[in-house]
Amino acid sequence: MTTAETAHSVRDALAGIEIRSQAFIDGEYVPALSGETFDCVTPITGETIARIAACGPADVDRAVRGARAAFEAGSWSRRSPKERKRALGRLASLIEEHGEELALLETVDMGKPIRDARRVDIPLAAECIAYYAEAIDKVYDELAPTDPSAVVMVVREPLGVVGAVVPWNFPLLMAAWKVGPALATGNSVILKPAEQSPLTALRLAELAAEAGIPAGVLQVVPGFGETAGQALGRHPGVDMIAFTGSTEVGKLFLRYAGESNMKRVALECGGKSPHIVTADCDLEAAATAVAWGIFYNQGEVCNAGSRLLVHRSVKEELLERVRKVAEGIRPGNPLDPKTRMGAIVDEAQLERVLGYIEAGKEEGAELLLGGSRALEETGGFYVEPTVLDRVRNDMRVAREEIFGPVLATIEFGDLDEAVAIANDSVYGLAAAIWTNDVNVAHVAARRLRAGVVWVNTFDRGDISAPFGGFKQSGFGRDKSIHALEKFTDLKSIWIQLRQ
Ligand code: NAP
Ligand code: MG
Repeated sequence: MTTAETAHSVRDALAGIEIRSQAFIDGEYVPALSGETFDCVTPITGETIARIAACGPADVDRAVRGARAAFEAGSWSRRSPKERKRALGRLASLIEEHGEELALLETVDMGKPIRDARRVDIPLAAECIAYYAEAIDKVYDELAPTDPSAVVMVVREPLGVVGAVVPWNFPLLMAAWKVGPALATGNSVILKPAEQSPLTALRLAELAAEAGIPAGVLQVVPGFGETAGQALGRHPGVDMIAFTGSTEVGKLFLRYAGESNMKRVALECGGKSPHIVTADCDLEAAATAVAWGIFYNQGEVCNAGSRLLVHRSVKEELLERVRKVAEGIRPGNPLDPKTRMGAIVDEAQLERVLGYIEAGKEEGAELLLGGSRALEETGGFYVEPTVLDRVRNDMRVAREEIFGPVLATIEFGDLDEAVAIANDSVYGLAAAIWTNDVNVAHVAARRLRAGVVWVNTFDRGDISAPFGGFKQSGFGRDKSIHALEKFTDLKSIWIQLRQ
């Protein structure tokens, strides 16, 4: 793949697609009030493909005022659940209908293989919106079992204005996880996409309008975290922040909330998930899962199985099998439907990943596979699938989230030791164990401190299963019916009866 060929394919892919580059506020695309823009760079070639409105506090304020006005007007918040269901159902269908365009925008924007954007990101985003559409006229409020002199209704009410701040690894899907349940419950939403990946969020706003979601109810403010993100986090007119991103920034949102209006905060943050392989399991299946568990989406996955914990007696054999799988996963042009591993989101992230590989080697880890930048001639940002052996759990590569295709291998002697190492992390997003022993499976599943535990599989999910973390991986859950809870407040209405 030469530079000219890749550049050509990015241009070809975008031919006929209109890139939305302005904020979407009160039903229309508008420039930032300052007139400022920032470059949208494709990591496929490093070229600038659009100039995006750089929203700041004034734009966020405008979006909040519009969102509040829409909420108070009741054009969405007081519509019947059945009506909200219809509009959200149409939005899900529009996402499907425009699936190819959205998949191309996602791939060009952040570098994931088009194959995954088509098969995973876009269909799951549509499915998520459809799920909350379908759910919302099937959930009931409650009556409290008080004495019969009163009727005490326990009702759920929307919070008001919700700020959704999302990362760049699954841009549309993470937006859907927030926007779906927040809109279904009647809130107005202001979506702040990551600066690296604003394109699908900006297109989503227009599709939502087409689906009949009223002006002001879904606003999109692209911009930088420190300006647009912080302004949302500190705005007194925002009632809740639903955040997905790093633990570091998640903590900032807690601070913003504490220093402003004590808005609710739900955080889906980072991970350093342990992938445990015992001696008694299907090693071939485990090896495939271990490799894809860290190399899928270039390793830019919050629940990536970035720490391989393997029993001493099977380590060599497992690593040999992982190596064979990994050799079949070469970084390539994300727009080629055969490519299984794409580009790292930007140059800064590329440098970060390479820096961690060096840090691992310096601390005594052994490089088994990969370790270098790839396809540099394209101008894009690619890294080889990388496996480090002889890692200790106190090394940086075992403690810090790399967010790239780098596997850190740690060996253990018995289950107690495996669980102790697994839990020795500030994170607790996901964990997995491979075993043929049902007893070991159950005991480990309960002892692992993580929001999701997989047994004999990895990275499985379903819209019906909650997703989120323990410890510093955050709190609050995305997906499933439980996600509705965080976008509502409980109200008790006490009606005293005359007997
Ligand atoms: P990030 O740097 O934390 O950014 C996430 C979002 O926060 C972006 O929209 C970002 O805007 C914004 N932001 C950054 N600095 C901010 C600040 N000072 N104030 C307010 N907002 C700010 O994370 P990322 O690098 O985009 O994504 C990778 C992280 O997301 C990883 O840690 C990964 O584990 C996590 N993640 C978690 C889950 C989960 O469900 N638990 C899922 C996916 C990803 P800018 O883009 O402009 O900086
Ligand atoms: Mg981009």
